[in-house]
Amino acid sequence: MKIRSIEVIRIGIPFTAGTAERKNVGQVQDDDAFNAASPRHRRMESLMLKVTTDTGRVGWGEAFGHGSNPATLTALTAMVAPLFIGTALADHLHTLEVARRALHGFGSTGPVVYALSGIDIALWDLAAQVAGQPLYQFLGGTARPLELYASLVSYGGDPEEVYRQVSRARVQGFRKIKLHETRFEAIAAAREALPIAEGQLMVDVNCPWTVDEAARMADRLSKLQLTWLEEPVWPPDDAHGLAAVRRHGVPLSAGENAAGVNGLRALFEQNAIDVAQPSVAKVGGIGAMLEVFRLARRYDVKVVPHCFYFGPGLLAVAHLCTLLPADVAVEVPFIEFEQLLFPALDFKPQLLLDDVPGLGFRPDETVIERYCMERALIA
Ligand SMILES: [Mg+2]
Repeated sequence: MKIRSIEVIRIGIPFTAGTAERKNVGQVQDDDAFNAASPRHRRMESLMLKVTTDTGRVGWGEAFGHGSNPATLTALTAMVAPLFIGTALADHLHTLEVARRALHGFGSTGPVVYALSGIDIALWDLAAQVAGQPLYQFLGGTARPLELYASLVSYGGDPEEVYRQVSRARVQGFRKIKLHETRFEAIAAAREALPIAEGQLMVDVNCPWTVDEAARMADRLSKLQLTWLEEPVWPPDDAHGLAAVRRHGVPLSAGENAAGVNGLRALFEQNAIDVAQPSVAKVGGIGAMLEVFRLARRYDVKVVPHCFYFGPGLLAVAHLCTLLPADVAVEVPFIEFEQLLFPALDFKPQLLLDDVPGLGFRPDETVIERYCMERALIA
């Protein structure tokens, strides 16, 4: 069985976040155009890959993502996807390794690695289909309902809105809730809405602070007993800086922006984090995620994958989470899409993977047609 074609499909689906017409909302600005949780976004994108074999079998993947999509799409069409056309599915791990080596000069993270991640996911989907097993089973995971955690968009630091939204997520049944806020008052309001005894609160600040600023904030936040503080320092891969902040007693998470498996390893070696957050569509795909899982076990670091996705990347993370302890929840954006790409996006606090071979991604083709921004076929 050989790869006949790879189609790249960029879609953007409008969403609402359950807010009244928000204050401080204007055009997406340069400084947050690449942050999917920005309060200014009204549409969420997915860069999906549809890999078709010469027998007509279809595997799906997703490459990161959001504001990076034009660059990742170009990387896919101009360089990465052509390397896979005509290759045998049975050799997929070898082909991926050859491609990684051929393209290593483009860096250990960024659009080329994102592109390879997307293809890797699709090839694992196909391999599991050929084996006749759901991907989780093919990977050695355990069938079980997966808990989801609600990853809230930013409400621009408005404590009242944060309180209202955390309460809304609780009413929907979520007991693990993550903010994208940097103001102490907004974070404290969330803790009020979700008391310590009643749920876990995580805070993603998207790498804004110097090490000293982050340390001071960690001191203030320690009484709120966060489950983790995510990416507190700039730059995000400053392992020494993270390790210094971590000594202030607030559990830290990072890893979404690590440069591949070795970037995660550097965080482990420096004792920089309590929770590792590799991102399947950025780090190198499913193969790289499995390597990170093995490394994390060796360093005794908890893994909770990053997953601000709603396409094949989300399902890939869900399958992978069956390999992790039962208390690891899958991140889902706390938004309401104008139309659902597939039914599971009507997020409940639990997700049960379909018992079908492969990834089980069966998108609504009419939704793809309606919200397609750009597509390219490499054959
Ligand atoms: Mg994050």
